[in-house]
Amino acid sequence: TPVLQVVGVRKEYGDNVALDGVDFEVHAQEVVAVLGPSGSGKSTLVRCIDQLESIEGGAMYLDGELLGYERHRDGIRPLTDADVKRQQRRMGMVFQQFNLFPHWTVLRNITEAPIKVHGVPAGEAKARALELLNRVGLADKADAHPRQLSGGQQQRVAIARAVATNPRILLFDEPTSSLDPELVDEVLQVMKDLAESGMTMIVVTHELDFARHVADRCVFMADGQVIEDRPSTEFFDAP
Ligand code: ADP
Ligand code: ADP
Repeated sequence: TPVLQVVGVRKEYGDNVALDGVDFEVHAQEVVAVLGPSGSGKSTLVRCIDQLESIEGGAMYLDGELLGYERHRDGIRPLTDADVKRQQRRMGMVFQQFNLFPHWTVLRNITEAPIKVHGVPAGEAKARALELLNRVGLADKADAHPRQLSGGQQQRVAIARAVATNPRILLFDEPTSSLDPELVDEVLQVMKDLAESGMTMIVVTHELDFARHVADRCVFMADGQVIEDRPSTEFFDAP
């Protein structure tokens, strides 16, 4: 079973069709880059997968389990909020704007969900957070607050936070687009390390070098549709 299946997904904002029948799959340990012009639906796609947005048609499956809906005798109906949250906990999301809590330390930003949502003992969550901070090169920043960090450092904390809950898949929505150019590489390097460690990832990005050299596949979107989906090598070497 693929980790994620997206089947004929449709998303509308009023008369505006943001996703117009999107199909694709992501297998375990695969890294999929989602490319395409501004307004083509890339961000909407990952927000729908993470159930931050509802969909008007089609279906999505995580490890074969229908997302957002359940079957019952008269057809399908939306899941309760609690069940949606349970599904969301199996995915990690990294946003363009980091979305860290400014009044919490770096350590608390990373340990909060494991402790409060996943019931991991505090000592264990802290040890794991420190290990993750070490992995993203921020071992000395555990007690800092987000505002004391550069954008690149904040995004590395956000990645550590997303990984801390052991998600089945990580979703990145333009993770380097709000960074000063000199801070982009440190974030891409952390993402590359994650990819090499076997993390399953979907990355919406304009970083073509990353797509070419780190992603296994490239999905190219235009006008709410997937118009190309092929291995990165073929995608970039096609005539
Ligand atoms: P991309 O990420 O490729 O730049 P988006 O997913 O942000 O594209 O947008 C796809 C389309 O959906 C665009 O036409 C955009 O204006 C529209 N859209 C996205 N979010 C909203 C929203 N919250 N309300 C209305 N329209 C939206
Ligand atoms: P991105 O390039 O990351 O998609 P955008 O600037 O398109 O960012 O969108 C930023 C925010 O505004 C998102 O939350 C998106 O859903 C929302 N948005 C985008 N287009 C529209 C729109 N036409 N009307 C209302 N909200 C929109």
